[in-house]
Amino acid sequence: MNDNLKMCHYGNPVLRRKTEPVTEFNGELRDFIDRMADMLYEQNGVGLAAPQVGVSQKIVIIDLSFGEEVDRILPLINPEILSGEGECSIEEGCLSVPKIFEQVTRPERILFKYQDLGGKRIEADADGYLARVVQHELDHLEGILFVDRLSTVKKTFLARALRDIAEAEGYKI
Ligand code: ZN
Repeated sequence: MNDNLKMCHYGNPVLRRKTEPVTEFNGELRDFIDRMADMLYEQNGVGLAAPQVGVSQKIVIIDLSFGEEVDRILPLINPEILSGEGECSIEEGCLSVPKIFEQVTRPERILFKYQDLGGKRIEADADGYLARVVQHELDHLEGILFVDRLSTVKKTFLARALRDIAEAEGYKI
């Protein structure tokens, strides 16, 4: 894994790459999670997926305090959504897609599974904002960004802003 984490933005191909499962639950993984947490707080985010810092592995962290003063990091290793129900529309943003915020419709409640830092398998359910953050972050592990989930009209409207982000990142889209 990389020593220096770098925030990757829209247009960077690493955000579109499929991720590999984590197989080693060791000190290197813990160290990487710590560095991801530093990046998450530095960027004032509530969730971060490994591809966003250039690492194509199935690793997500979520700040369960959602930006409040208490830091409670939930690491999700090899996470997967098992089922979803209901539907709701919530405004989303993304550290990799700066300054763009749009309403996205997704299931309201989810059942998901993941492994903890020790490799233990856990099943959990979530609703509300947590369910939303989990779904947004897990999309990153499949190379999907929240703007992909917008209507064609919305996407057309955002095309120029997205192109600008990609150009600043050094890529033409
Ligand atoms: Zn994101």
